[in-house]
Amino acid sequence: SWLQICSRLKGEVGEVEYRTWLTKIALGPVDGDEITLLLPTRFLRDWVRSQYGDRLSELWNQVLPAIRRVELQVARPGDPAAPPLALATEDAPVAAPSIEVEEAPRSAPEVRSDLVTTLDTRFTFDTFVVGKPNEFAYACARRVAEKPSSVGFNPLFLYGGVGLGKTHLMHAIGAELVQSGNVSVAYMSAEKFMYRFIAAIRSQSTMEFKEQLRSVDVLMIDDLQFLIGKDNTQEEFFHTFNALVDAGRQIVVSADKSPSDLSGLEDRLRTRLGCGMVADIHATTFELRISILESKAAASGVVVPGKVLEFLAHKITSNVRELEGALNRLIAHANLFGRPVTLEATQDVLHDILKAHDRRVTIEEIQKRVAEHWNIRLTDMSSARRARAVARPRQVAMYLAKQLTSRSLPEIGRKFGNRDHTTVMHAVSRVAELMERDPAFAEDVELMRRMLES
Ligand code: ADP
Ligand code: MG
Repeated sequence: SWLQICSRLKGEVGEVEYRTWLTKIALGPVDGDEITLLLPTRFLRDWVRSQYGDRLSELWNQVLPAIRRVELQVARPGDPAAPPLALATEDAPVAAPSIEVEEAPRSAPEVRSDLVTTLDTRFTFDTFVVGKPNEFAYACARRVAEKPSSVGFNPLFLYGGVGLGKTHLMHAIGAELVQSGNVSVAYMSAEKFMYRFIAAIRSQSTMEFKEQLRSVDVLMIDDLQFLIGKDNTQEEFFHTFNALVDAGRQIVVSADKSPSDLSGLEDRLRTRLGCGMVADIHATTFELRISILESKAAASGVVVPGKVLEFLAHKITSNVRELEGALNRLIAHANLFGRPVTLEATQDVLHDILKAHDRRVTIEEIQKRVAEHWNIRLTDMSSARRARAVARPRQVAMYLAKQLTSRSLPEIGRKFGNRDHTTVMHAVSRVAELMERDPAFAEDVELMRRMLES
């Protein structure tokens, strides 16, 4: 019945939202007409309660009329009723075959056919613009494309934030290898890997699936972080991985974090992932953004003045995909109306995008949201109270102020009851340190940040 509720919720809220918030729920005890659901952190509990609380009660009541109340609680570590429950979709079809997981292909042909890899032909080494933040990853990728399975480069683990070129580099490796001769390359997202695996289980063709996987020369799995919490699929990937590496084949993996930071992946898998070459792609610099824009503008054949490129590189700093999107729109506009690209036209055409990037969080806003979440008074953000229950949220607010605003340390200090800049500095490093050590705390802070940013 829980699985039924999960699949209903997923249908209602969509895959992304479901995965972000609802897969974190674990089933707690049932007591009379009340069921307890457990969340790993307070923040998640509050969020799930406010956004999905009513719907959860309704659904439970529909599925099990005996349940009249749904209680949301924070799971305590060691709570026997709160295993790190894998409510992830993957376990559903295996444990309860009657429930359909929509995304998994129902029939087998996709699995039976060869592991066809469709590489995006736009993503080649030629079109990849190299700069300080990505030169190391680029060099490693080139090296692997030239000489797969070299000692020290297997596996190649690429990591970095969204839209910084991981997928691009993987496709470039694939394109190069395919071109160079009879090398079989399989590229797929971790998500696809999982769905294929599930489909293979369903159609009882896991042997074939495994054989296919193990017959390729180069296996590339993109966005491995997707496998966090998907224990069965991780297990399968781990075996495939070992079989391939033992047979001298090349593995390339990408993720949003380094192997050691991918908590939630099995230790032995993380260890093996970190055994070859680990290369990170850093956030873009202004110079790199300009080079990328120049290269893409040149390829488009539309003249884009340097002023406009600089303006874009200043405004859109988050990732290359957005930068590219903005430029493409400008170019499309220029082509459509046959007008030259000017700074004024740019501001006009990209009005909405630029506005979104203008949005800046204020320190006051941060203080308010943090105080609310940790249940302290807003005035305590500036008070002299040192009790941990007050001091910790205050430190978190300072940390977020440093991360999300462009204020200097002394400026931030002033907003927190005229504290010294060294106090702010201490708070920032203290919170960072705690986040390293305590994943639940880190998650709280990260979610808080995402809320403030959106
Ligand atoms: P990720 O997989 O890291 O999220 P992608 O590889 O999908 O990012 O890159 C997002 C977009 O930005 C793609 O269109 C890609 O071609 C482009 N891109 C990213 N980095 C570069 C670069 N250094 N040079 C040229 N294009 C880039
Ligand atoms: Mg990608």
